[in-house]
Amino acid sequence: MTLKAYQIEAGYSGELDVDRILHEIEFPRDTKILKNITLQINPLYTFQIDTLILTPTRAIILEIKKYSGTIQFDEAGGKTIKISNDGFVEKFDCVIHQLIRAKEGLRRWMELRNFNIHIDEILVMANQKTNLDSIPETVHMMYGKQLPRYISELPELNSSLSAQEIKSLASQIMKSQVTWNQTPLCVKYEINPMLLRNGVLCHSCNEVMYRTQGRKWHCAQCGKYGDHEVAHSLHDWFLLIKPTISNKECMDFLLLKSKFAASTTLRKSSLKRIGNPPASIYILNYKRDI
Ligand SMILES: [Zn+2]
Repeated sequence: MTLKAYQIEAGYSGELDVDRILHEIEFPRDTKILKNITLQINPLYTFQIDTLILTPTRAIILEIKKYSGTIQFDEAGGKTIKISNDGFVEKFDCVIHQLIRAKEGLRRWMELRNFNIHIDEILVMANQKTNLDSIPETVHMMYGKQLPRYISELPELNSSLSAQEIKSLASQIMKSQVTWNQTPLCVKYEINPMLLRNGVLCHSCNEVMYRTQGRKWHCAQCGKYGDHEVAHSLHDWFLLIKPTISNKECMDFLLLKSKFAASTTLRKSSLKRIGNPPASIYILNYKRDI
């Protein structure tokens, strides 16, 4: 993911740190990793999952938090308390309750679709420097760096999904996100979108890439030629800013030279077009994105 490239110190950078750690883990074949999932049991019961790992024997829910300072869990009072290094106290809805609720939600959601696999939940502290006053009793909690070992040592389980079943489960989850009903990260973390760094950013060094004559994207900084950077940058838009993108927005966000370049980029993407040009807008096409 290229989000790190936007160089914003905010909570979601924790998700990126953990993404990187997940790459160190050797998951069973056919494992699928889904991000920022929102599912619904009924209109009044919606739950969100930061990262969902589907392996042949289990689903692992990661709730990822990046805190600085000291964290206290007040499970009985339903609050998580953050005390910054200079003594400033903030209270949040209990992250443990959130995670238990997501686990129970996922169990019911899968049961309704006849998927029956074990669910593990892990509260992940992405910041190694977070001080923890206590360890929660009801959920597993660890620092990001402990994840590879913990996950690789999870006990073997019998009941298992075939590759086809995992694919079907992942696809049903993605199709259930009928509309983009998540809060864009800029809203969630109160980031001004104007502060984001625009452009197609190099995955290796985060510099802005430019299109060469041969129409390949190239990073002058590290010399890398890009394949997936455009698609990732477009995906970042939806994650960060809003659920639709217009030709003009695409041109500005990716620092493209013309509306023509933007429309070519959008048409070549896997996004779904709504409406006719020049008024068309594009949305994520989940059926093709899985
Ligand atoms: Zn580069």
